[in-house]
Amino acid sequence: MSRPLLGQSLGELEAWAVAEGQPSFRGRQIHEWLYRRGVHDLSAITVLPRAWREGLRERQAQQGQPLIGRLVEQHRRVAADGTTKLLLGTSDGLQLETVGIPTEDRLTVCVSSQVGCPMACRFCATGKDGLARSLALHEIVDQVLSVREAMDRRPTHVVFMGMGEPLLNSEAVLQAIAVLCRDLGMAQRQITVSTVGVPGTLPSLAERAHQVLGRAQFTLAVSLHAPDQPLREELIPTARAYPLDHLLEDCRRYATDTSRRVSFEYILLAGVNDAPQQARALAQLLRGFQSHVNLIPYNPITEERFERPSHQSVDRFRQTLLDQHIAVSVRASRGLDQDAACGQLRRSLAGKA
Ligand code: SAH
Repeated sequence: MSRPLLGQSLGELEAWAVAEGQPSFRGRQIHEWLYRRGVHDLSAITVLPRAWREGLRERQAQQGQPLIGRLVEQHRRVAADGTTKLLLGTSDGLQLETVGIPTEDRLTVCVSSQVGCPMACRFCATGKDGLARSLALHEIVDQVLSVREAMDRRPTHVVFMGMGEPLLNSEAVLQAIAVLCRDLGMAQRQITVSTVGVPGTLPSLAERAHQVLGRAQFTLAVSLHAPDQPLREELIPTARAYPLDHLLEDCRRYATDTSRRVSFEYILLAGVNDAPQQARALAQLLRGFQSHVNLIPYNPITEERFERPSHQSVDRFRQTLLDQHIAVSVRASRGLDQDAACGQLRRSLAGKA
């Protein structure tokens, strides 16, 4: 099976052109049209010889495989604040979500790493249907191009906080980071990989990032969500296999190995994990850790009865952490009117939510 062209480097595209009996500069042209112009179809690359384009198209039709590997936009929702959620279709008929979140000086793309997710965190819409499959490199890169095209603006930041668990697809995720930096001119420091924790993956992530990227400079964000093991297991069933102290030990090691501060995400669920004593317990847990806590007030999903805490209670939690000298920010909710919680758009269009 031949690899889709999207996701390939300049050198690889040049080698491919030569293997096709073309001069290597054809590879450079394709690189330019794929990444800078964002073409969806080879026939749109008008600088290529017509006979070659047609030959490739015929071969593609016979083999039934995508040549470029772009996803197809199937649905778009734009919230009042400009947040744009796209539903994208894969060549094998699956659907995934990606979101563009604009501010004055940033455009953050929230990308999916899998279609569905096997982790089944209770408050998350994506996990309700389980995992369909992991995304391939070109399907991850496509999301950034699709948002750029839909919003007619260059993305500045990428967060792997869409559907799926990135550390169950870490090879494609690392390769995608390489493409974003090398072929789309982004910086690793503008990229965040968010994980709920998969046993045994963090040590190899640092090592493999080193091999693929030269240095791991992207931000690792770990979804903690509870200050103690029993509550964490209740919210995140897979946490049973990865006790909190092991997870934090791996985070410490990752921070040492990469010289990067790890950040922690903490979803706030009213009456479940938002009490001041839980903030103090969280501070205790993170003591001596060079870290940053990102509080995420819960976005309601239809399948569960959790509630979003009041502004006062979010602020109290934040202030308690600050009093304990923990660096903390609160994630502003964006596009709440448009099925903001991850996985919701796909489910609501499928009539499941
Ligand atoms: N699997 C990875 C990344 C995907 S989810 C992870 O768990 O980190 C990205 C973030 O959104 C996670 O912190 C996740 O817990 C959070 N999240 C999921 N559902 C949510 C909801 N309904 N409201 C608010 N945050 C949610």
